[in-house]
Amino acid sequence: MEPNTLERSLHTARALVMADLVAGDVAQADIVSLVEDAVTHRRWWVEQWPEGAEFVTGLIAQDVQDALLERYGRWPLCPACGGDEPHALDVEPELGPDPRWVCAKAAVAVAPVGALGQVLGR
Ligand SMILES: [Zn+2]
Repeated sequence: MEPNTLERSLHTARALVMADLVAGDVAQADIVSLVEDAVTHRRWWVEQWPEGAEFVTGLIAQDVQDALLERYGRWPLCPACGGDEPHALDVEPELGPDPRWVCAKAAVAVAPVGALGQVLGR
C-alpha cells in the first residue's frame, strides 16, 4: 500500500473520532492524547497488515472507547435509551469498513462513527 493511502486512512480515522469526542464534549487535552496514542498504535498495526486500512476508523474508535473507560467512564453514552442506567454505544462491525455506533440494548444503529454530532444535535 502507498504510504499516502495509509496516512490518509489514519488521518480520516482521527478526524472522525475527534468529531465524536467534540460532539460529546469530552475532547479535553488529555483525551486528545489518548486518540494520538491509538493512532500511533494503529499506524504500526496497519503497516503490518495494509489490507486493514479501511478498518482503522472502527478500531481507533474502540481503542479510544476502551482507554476512556479506564480514565473517564463510558463513552459515548447512548442517546436513544436514556433512563436511569446510561450505557455506552458499541462499534459495529468490530473489524470492518464503515463502522457505526449501535445501541446493543435497543438493537438500533445510532450514527456512523464521526456523525454522533448530528444525533446529539450539535
Ligand atoms: Zn441504548
